[in-house]
Amino acid sequence: MGERNMTSGISQITKQVYSGLKQKGYTGRIVSIRHLDDLKEEIERRRNQGVFDEALYQEYLAGFEFGIPEHLPDAKSLVITSVPQPQQRVNFNFKGRSYHLTVPPTYSHKTDEIVENILSDILKPKGFNLYPAAVPEKLLAVRSGLAKYGKNNITYIEGMGSFYRLKAFLSDLPAIEDNWFELRLLEQCNTCNACVKKCPTGAIVPRRFLVQAEKCLTFHTERPNEFPDWIEPSWHNCLIGCMYCQLACPANKRFFRWFEGEESFTEKETKLILKGTSPNQLPQATVEKLKRLYLLYQLDVIPRNLDVLIEQGSS
Ligand code: SF4
Ligand code: SF4
Repeated sequence: MGERNMTSGISQITKQVYSGLKQKGYTGRIVSIRHLDDLKEEIERRRNQGVFDEALYQEYLAGFEFGIPEHLPDAKSLVITSVPQPQQRVNFNFKGRSYHLTVPPTYSHKTDEIVENILSDILKPKGFNLYPAAVPEKLLAVRSGLAKYGKNNITYIEGMGSFYRLKAFLSDLPAIEDNWFELRLLEQCNTCNACVKKCPTGAIVPRRFLVQAEKCLTFHTERPNEFPDWIEPSWHNCLIGCMYCQLACPANKRFFRWFEGEESFTEKETKLILKGTSPNQLPQATVEKLKRLYLLYQLDVIPRNLDVLIEQGSS
């Protein structure tokens, strides 16, 4: 195939990828594989500047893979996708009371397989491969032009606010366009300070794209250590994570009440969860509910988080 025909063929496939995502209400960007190095440099630069707390770095960032994988030696692009995603409601019954709690968007992985299938169904018949990538997805989304940062370090996408889930892939499909942007801040942030005011921990530093993550409730609710003494129990507002800054944000106005996937746990199930019962000791029905919530693998933190919310009388 001549070079021009080859370029035109790849351009067609790229269009099909974008329209396949769009048909489902999803979106994405494809950038050159050379930006793997840019992502690595940026994470390392921030680490060397002392921006990351070391515990945070080890927990969230050390697992990224910035090399070309052996199973895809001809990798040519990074694909970043975003899928609109609601909050989930989860109800616990305990000592005659019901506790209605929230799981923020992004915890459910339900759409990862769907988005992978959409892309694979387009790429594989044309002889291209696709594999999930372990890269800093928020940073890739912003650099690729898909998303913008808010002051709260959450990323925002046109038409989705911050209610979406990102998923990154590596492919041997060449990147036709290679947009790579400076970090961009949401326009609304220029005249808004709502998240800074609402954040209970003071984790949001205005004029910086990164929150002090070691001060952020999300970080502490996701790791199994004891909560530090400086965290007021009354600050907790989700079964895992924290929604205060996202629910204060005008860019999310359309999505504040968007919930799907409600699950309820009986008194008996709640007691078993609070006791820290391991998944293989839980009734199958309870395991299935936790699986549907994508929380089965968070059972190392859920009992502690639930206990503090029940103590506070959250409803
Ligand atoms: S998630 Fe919660 S603790 Fe973290 S920055 Fe937002 S409001 Fe603050
Ligand atoms: S609440 Fe305001 S300042 Fe914070 S991310 Fe949203 S628009 Fe920006």
